[in-house]
Amino acid sequence: MTFKNLNLNPKIIQAIEEMKYEIATPIQEQAIPEILNGKDLCASAQTGTGKTAAFLLPILTKIIQKPLKGKGPRVLILVPTRELAMQVSKESTKYSKYLERIKTVCIYGGVPYPQQKRDLYRPYEILVATPGRLIDHLNSGRIKFSRLETFILDEADRMLDMGFIDDIRRITDAIEQKHQTLLFSATLKKGVKTLVKDLLDNPVDLKIPIDKGNIEQRIHSVRNLDHKLELLDKVLKEETIKQAIIFTSTKIYADELKFKLQDQGHRAQALHGDIPQGKRTRTIAQFRQGKTQLLIATDVAARGIDIPKISHIINFDLPSSIDDYIHRIGRTGRIGEKGLAISFASPKDRRVVFDIEKLTGQRILTSRSSDKTKDNFKKKSSRDFSKKKRFSNNDFTKKFKKKRSFKEKKEDNNRSFSKKDSFKNKKTKRFN
Ligand code: AMP
Repeated sequence: MTFKNLNLNPKIIQAIEEMKYEIATPIQEQAIPEILNGKDLCASAQTGTGKTAAFLLPILTKIIQKPLKGKGPRVLILVPTRELAMQVSKESTKYSKYLERIKTVCIYGGVPYPQQKRDLYRPYEILVATPGRLIDHLNSGRIKFSRLETFILDEADRMLDMGFIDDIRRITDAIEQKHQTLLFSATLKKGVKTLVKDLLDNPVDLKIPIDKGNIEQRIHSVRNLDHKLELLDKVLKEETIKQAIIFTSTKIYADELKFKLQDQGHRAQALHGDIPQGKRTRTIAQFRQGKTQLLIATDVAARGIDIPKISHIINFDLPSSIDDYIHRIGRTGRIGEKGLAISFASPKDRRVVFDIEKLTGQRILTSRSSDKTKDNFKKKSSRDFSKKKRFSNNDFTKKFKKKRSFKEKKEDNNRSFSKKDSFKNKKTKRFN
């Protein structure tokens, strides 16, 4: 279906035509008419399906149909991470390019307040926010919801995973008047269902099947850290990688792997929650511009990254939950593109491997490599992992105590687990 058949404002259609969107994706086709009709909506859809446009296009159409005097947001989009906030806000600005007086403001933690205060003081219609910073501004009386017409909860499952449930409740309690609520979530687990029951009024349910047909998924069974590194080396040499995100389970691993890959001559950068926001934004910008080829990231930091050139996702460490796995692989194979997701599974990962196989309805090709990383590409079930030796988290740091420049050592020291740091980590987490 083309966008012209979806009753959207012609100026919005003009903007999306310039962005070369030709046909609406399934979620857009199904959600746009319901949102225009004013229905509450609960959509299970993941990143990469076009879900952001699915809510932004009808919401923009609605707010320009009916101008409204006064101050404060008419639409609130609550997202779990800063990166996603920036991404959604950027899309909103692009779609409203030809609309007069439709301004989007984006607020998130980890950056100074003055610019956000100025943005909130000026007239705007759409507010994209992460929970912690939104509550700070609400408490200071800088945001009033008296004009609010639509509340959108994006990536609700991730919000819950990140412990934002109380914040969500506080925010929704602050919205007094009747409004339309749209909830998007990759998975509809128990906590999300409770939110749906409490916040949505007779919602339309949309289930967009996980179509990862354009993403080839492979799992390599690994014995230990050395084995992972050998395999990574092999993958980086043998695969034609335009750009890749390599996921690690911790911030320290991400840094260590970055140093190692940089030493090998790769254009690699790390992205995780301990990196100051300014640097995170620059790192993503450089990755987007193609200046960096490999991004070594933790889950939190990689949310919302939407870069068409990402050809590979490498799970150096598999996540512990299938939800995170889905979100991760969704970074590749964006609309109209193909992608390859390669995961290294150690014995402790057998649960998630089982879940992946269940989700995709297929046994994933699992290869095992010898010490010399000769793949025999035999099909192996998750049971094969059970007898393998588990490696400890400390192995990584021990292995890569390389000679580094003074500056790098200092950066590392700053990240060491002093009491002060662990407090700071907690705080950072809260504002992610
Ligand atoms: P999302 O699922 O919202 O993260 O969107 C994924 C990517 O698809 C974004 O880069 C969008 O700009 C792009 N996109 C959204 N809708 C369409 C469409 N109908 N045709 C082509 N690209 C789209």
